[in-house]
Amino acid sequence: MKFEAKISEIIPRTADVTSFRFPRPAELTYKPGQFFFVTIKQDVKELQHHFSFSSSPTEQSYNEFTKKYTDHEYSLALKAAKVEDWARIDAPYGQFTFEGEHPKVALLAGGIGITPFVSMCKYAAEKRSDAKIALFYGCRTEGDIAFKQELEASAQQNQNLKLHLVLNQASPEWKGTTGIISADMIRQELPDFKEYLFYCCGPPGMVTAMGQLVESIGLPKAQLKLEYFTGYPQ
Ligand SMILES: Cc1cc2nc3c(=O)[nH]c(=O)nc-3n(C[C@H](O)[C@H](O)[C@H](O)COP(=O)(O)OP(=O)(O)OC[C@H]3O[C@@H](n4cnc5c(N)ncnc54)[C@H](O)[C@@H]3O)c2cc1C
Repeated sequence: MKFEAKISEIIPRTADVTSFRFPRPAELTYKPGQFFFVTIKQDVKELQHHFSFSSSPTEQSYNEFTKKYTDHEYSLALKAAKVEDWARIDAPYGQFTFEGEHPKVALLAGGIGITPFVSMCKYAAEKRSDAKIALFYGCRTEGDIAFKQELEASAQQNQNLKLHLVLNQASPEWKGTTGIISADMIRQELPDFKEYLFYCCGPPGMVTAMGQLVESIGLPKAQLKLEYFTGYPQ
């Protein structure tokens, strides 16, 4: 459905990642993992991009997307946006969804590719899904982890959700994993990985690498779902 909306809330997540909320019309239904188009104005010019929902369908009062800023045109226009500013929304789209229909899923996120998984994890927690979910979330540094509190809250609510945060560069205080999401890590954390359906999401270079990683551990393409966030450099 297409509708006009006003930004109701702007929530900074990290230094260069920000969420935008809009009132949710009662008729808007979507699945966790889907995306929508957002048109904004830069003076009189209209600019459009698509974004995954970072809200969950269980959140009735708003829908939310979360943008990683670049120095390019759309980002600059969005950075200047304020509460009450106009937008046009066209939703929902996409097949990269998970509503609990698979008993075991591994979610591999590269950076901003976390957004559809935030929606899936919140949804699974709210719906008391008994699906086993292993989320591997790779970020550059601790400061780049968006939605840490929200993901930890979902994991606390849902014993079937396990979080694996992986930092490329960690401070000496970091107690978690350092490096990149690897085949060894998956084998170690998920001894029954062959029973899992893998979802990979992020900028194109990361998704290609994660897809290759999953194939390298012997899983067929049928057990792999990829979402490329086009618009970011390789
Ligand atoms: C299904 C799907 C879901 C997505 N979900 C998300 C999401 O949840 N969060 C998110 O942040 N992104 C998401 N994206 C990506 C998003 O749609 C944008 O493409 C991305 O955020 C880049 O935005 P931008 O502000 O850099 O855009 P733009 O200003 O349009 O720039 C996009 C690209 O165009 C080129 N470009 C534009 N201007 C210049 C310039 N002046 N000089 C040189 N090159 C230029 C660059 O290659 C740049 O990377 C998703 C994409 C897809 C396909």
